[in-house]
Amino acid sequence: MSAPTTTSTTAVPFFSGAASIRRDWAGLAARLRTVTDTGRFTFGPVGEELEQAIAERTGARHTVAVNNGTDALIIMLRAAGIRPGDEVIVPAYTFFASASSVLHVGARPVLVDIEPGSYALDPEQVRAAVTERTRAIMPVHLFTQMADMVALGEVADEHGLQLLEDSAEGIGMHIDGRHAGRWGRAGVLSFFPTKTLGALGDAGMLLTDDEDLARTARQLRCHGQPSDGSYEYLELGYNSRCDEVQAAFLLWRLESLDAEIARRAAVAARYDKQLDELAPLVRTPWLAPAGKQSNLVYYVYLIECERRDELVAYLTSHGVGTEVYYPRPLTEQPCLITRAGVDQPVPVAKAASQRAVGLPMYPDLTDEQVDRVCDLIHEFYRERQ
Ligand SMILES: *Cc1c(COP(=O)(O)O)cnc(C)c1O
Repeated sequence: MSAPTTTSTTAVPFFSGAASIRRDWAGLAARLRTVTDTGRFTFGPVGEELEQAIAERTGARHTVAVNNGTDALIIMLRAAGIRPGDEVIVPAYTFFASASSVLHVGARPVLVDIEPGSYALDPEQVRAAVTERTRAIMPVHLFTQMADMVALGEVADEHGLQLLEDSAEGIGMHIDGRHAGRWGRAGVLSFFPTKTLGALGDAGMLLTDDEDLARTARQLRCHGQPSDGSYEYLELGYNSRCDEVQAAFLLWRLESLDAEIARRAAVAARYDKQLDELAPLVRTPWLAPAGKQSNLVYYVYLIECERRDELVAYLTSHGVGTEVYYPRPLTEQPCLITRAGVDQPVPVAKAASQRAVGLPMYPDLTDEQVDRVCDLIHEFYRERQ
């Protein structure tokens, strides 16, 4: 995908997917007609086609489409047998759902610090947090690259723990050709609109090679009813469907996913080039040392910077959208303080929460818009010297 062109407006929204829809409205309409023509709007052939396409793309043997990424996490934990009294190790720096999903199944998330740069679970800290109640480690792949799955897999093996991945952001990421979500017993994808593969609303998916886990997940997404549709409820499940319209939209988006990932990389390179000049005031995304590294997929372009909150206010006042990922570590979330295990300090997560901010990053972003954001950031620091 080459750089989109615009008649220049100065505002740069944090996210917009409107232009690419406008550009191929006919292609999208044809996809949507496959749904409206059949008259089947849930649990139909288009949803199955999406499951098949994601299975091919990721290499997962089984894929189970659900209503959103959070549901996929809850269903994954339930299907993996995580129960009340169990502990699951999750990073202290991640989206809330990585920890809330563990609480939703009655278990206790144990919050552990991250590695600087990759923003992913620190394997040494994980090792130190294992107790006799620990059942699983749930690494999260944030922003651009994967957690150190080799080292985390070793810790899991040493202690006989399951590895379950919150790979909600991980589409397209892999280490040695093995896709995110395929390093443990199961993983998930979120198709939230801003994600690298975003729906026209909400959708999510569970990935696994484990047939039993997949069967249980299918049952859980449909109230606990086995797939024969017998109206016999074997356990307490959920209502978590991926609508046919979302599946059709996602199949349409999948056609351009590789080109869009390449366009994201070009946007990142353009940011890097202009913002590296501002080091050490601004730190552009960090890359893991060669050999440990996954490929890079720029779902989020995250910088760490001095005077972050002032910079955010400055960009906002000039019409540039930003998103602070994440303004506080999960150890400081009101709803988690009394419920989660916080046995160790999390200084790396704390520092990141004070310095990190995501800049606009999506395929429809134009080169002019990227330059405008960079110019404003240069201006901000120049005025404050
Ligand atoms: C987006 C996201 C989720 C939740 O996905 P939804 O589809 O919004 O429910 C969970 N974990 C992480 C790391 C995410 O980025």
